Amino acid sequence: MTTRVAAVTGGIGGLGTAICKALARDGCSVVAADLGGDPARIARFEREVDGLDIRFMALDVSDFDACGAFVREVQSRFGSLDVIVNNAGITRDSTLRKMTHAQWQALLDVNLGSAFNLCRHAIDGMLERGFGRIVNISSISGQTGNFGQTNYAAAKAGLHGFTMSLARETAGRGITVNSVSPGYIATPMTAAMPEHVREKIVATIPAGRMGTPEDIARAVAFL
Ligand code: NAD
Repeated sequence: MTTRVAAVTGGIGGLGTAICKALARDGCSVVAADLGGDPARIARFEREVDGLDIRFMALDVSDFDACGAFVREVQSRFGSLDVIVNNAGITRDSTLRKMTHAQWQALLDVNLGSAFNLCRHAIDGMLERGFGRIVNISSISGQTGNFGQTNYAAAKAGLHGFTMSLARETAGRGITVNSVSPGYIATPMTAAMPEHVREKIVATIPAGRMGTPEDIARAVAFL
């Protein structure tokens, strides 16, 4: 069987770690691409995935040229880049009245620009090989909107539009492009919310709990 090479952005975060593990257990050779600024966090991740075919590579997904260098590096070290999971994401919550241009722009660059930055550099190789799997992690907020998240909801809705358009461009050439839109999942991102906000959210979820990173990782591995 061919070993597929997968890159997971935001790969050392809550969902990213679970996705890396699920893909490695399915036989992929996995690169976790994430910010390189916190050596202790990276070491913790490396301990957690010890024994699996997963390695960390530093990448700022909002940097177009860095994404190009990353794609070239992965292709030359591992032979190809077959699977991309665009999972890196941030929040910069604020009502529109108070939102700064910096909050708007940083969010768009990381949560939406990143998909363009990586896919633009990786798509030619996938088309040449006639195989590619791209999974974009959107959010339920991109469909319903969310108070204080005009930037986040716009980026996540945009990511879904990007997904559907790229899928139309490449479906006939062996490449599938999908997005997964999680509801609220228990990760550092939601742990950063104030307790009373988290409690209010959980009260609206029929299952009575947030989803787990493994719930999402299973869907990504399937796609
Ligand atoms: P997280 O904060 O645990 O992980 C996000 C990761 O992205 C972090 O490891 C962070 O270092 C990385 N990152 C941030 N900026 C980056 C950059 N410029 N370059 C590279 N990496 C960068 O959050 P999470 O909950 O695991 O979120 C993962 C994805 O799932 C995000 O796109 C988020 O929007 C989406 N999502 C999360 C939830 C949830 O409830 N947790 C719900 C819906 C969607």
